[in-house]
Amino acid sequence: MRTSAETESGAFVSLQAVGEFAGRLSLYDEIERPPAPAAGTAGTKTQDLTHVSVRDDRLTEVPEPSISRTASIVNKLALEAKTELEKLTNINKTVKEAVISKLCAIGELSLRLEETPLPQCGPAHTIIVTSDEKADTADQVTEKVRTAVDSRKRRVCVDRLRKTRDQKVIISCPTQKNIEKISGQLKERKGLKIRQAARKLPLVVIRDVRKENTDEDIVKSIRKQNKHATADLDWSSIEVKVKFRRRAKNDLECHPVLEVSPELWRRLVDAGYVYVGLQRRPVWDQSPQCTQCLGFGHTRKYCMGTAEKCARCGGEHKSQACEKRQNGEPPKCINCSRNKLDDTAHGAFSSECSVRNKWDALARARVSYA
Ligand SMILES: [Zn+2]
Ligand SMILES: [Zn+2]
Ligand SMILES: [Zn+2]
Repeated sequence: MRTSAETESGAFVSLQAVGEFAGRLSLYDEIERPPAPAAGTAGTKTQDLTHVSVRDDRLTEVPEPSISRTASIVNKLALEAKTELEKLTNINKTVKEAVISKLCAIGELSLRLEETPLPQCGPAHTIIVTSDEKADTADQVTEKVRTAVDSRKRRVCVDRLRKTRDQKVIISCPTQKNIEKISGQLKERKGLKIRQAARKLPLVVIRDVRKENTDEDIVKSIRKQNKHATADLDWSSIEVKVKFRRRAKNDLECHPVLEVSPELWRRLVDAGYVYVGLQRRPVWDQSPQCTQCLGFGHTRKYCMGTAEKCARCGGEHKSQACEKRQNGEPPKCINCSRNKLDDTAHGAFSSECSVRNKWDALARARVSYA
């Protein structure tokens, strides 16, 4: 049994820790941004014993705190402080209630921070329908789809049916089973072509890995040598595959690009480094889309934008807090709007986005775009 004095000091230690973490969180933007090279110099170049060639000046070996991980620690501390405070009997009731309600608010805020988006890997349950009849408008294709699919009788659920300007109809369903039912019915209707939208997994790049590691060696290392990132991961549902290797500055090394399941992607990007053979190497998100400004060619870490943009409507707020979504308004893609494209009725991470698809193809191409 603890004495009240011990409990009280425990609560205050927790409270102080919550405050310190929140302070670090507010500095996060600065921590994440690479130091600007001083005028007239070529940036910082560091050397270590395992790697004697000139280093990429953006390369850091120290894992950086991720927002989601920090947020979960803040949440845990807030809850601990709240529990300890609730046990106290020797303090003013009003003060106690006020602090507890603030701790609850901190806990809730940190939960929201934890929800940083996973990269979208394309909806698994989407089909694209086109007509054999070239002259058919999207409306006519939609009509053919409607007459072919008896949704009530066959109990199929459609989340979204959308027409594009190039006479396609895009159908998204909550499950693969629904897609199969619909595809079956559409195939019976002559004159329609059906194709399932490709599902793409997110990419990571491991920097400066020695070339003598085979693709199998690298995958094996990811699985076996990296408990710091992959503890408790259910490998039975995880995919990991070396797609190709980019050339590194050092001829003995390369930058392998891996396609991985979203859950593993999150773990690796959060960890910031992996062990491969006898090396400890930085691992980066290789998706070229920034989760802050939603632009391409850089990641959040190097974003020059100042405010988070909504992936749903392009406004200056977090996607999760989008009022337009709550009001049921259709999405408006910030990138397709910026590029003055006709079809903007999709989110900025959608596999329907033609700007995103262009960049995604580049990221997956063997030739370096950087
Ligand atoms: Zn950006
Ligand atoms: Zn919005
Ligand atoms: Zn778009």
